[in-house]
Amino acid sequence: MGAISNKLRTVEGGSLAFYCPGCKGAHTIRIGDGAGPGWTYNGNADNPTFTPSVLVRTGHYCNPGQQPGDCACDYQERYPDEGPWPWPCGICHSFVTNGQIQFLSDCTHELAGQTVPLPDLPESVK
Ligand SMILES: [Zn+2]
Ligand SMILES: [Zn+2]
Repeated sequence: MGAISNKLRTVEGGSLAFYCPGCKGAHTIRIGDGAGPGWTYNGNADNPTFTPSVLVRTGHYCNPGQQPGDCACDYQERYPDEGPWPWPCGICHSFVTNGQIQFLSDCTHELAGQTVPLPDLPESVK
């Protein structure tokens, strides 16, 4: 387990992790067939391509149709002394193609609709 390039690392169970500059955190995807969702990988650790798209939902977005509440969105309201919850609710939907990460317009973060080079993994994620 560990970094296989500046951009990818392997994770136990046949998964790969890359750093998402939209979520400012790692996304992990499982490569190949088997139980649950799996992705294909072009085998190029420097310029990876994954198919299909990577869709990550966090917080209240995990349940389509759920309204914000009792989640990170109102955490500070409920616990004014504790500051904001560090992992905000969100949607991240991207295509990783040839070392570029294309964010679709349904992302809730600031890189929605943009395509950026896949960044190097920060030391904390390697
Ligand atoms: Zn993301
Ligand atoms: Zn929320």
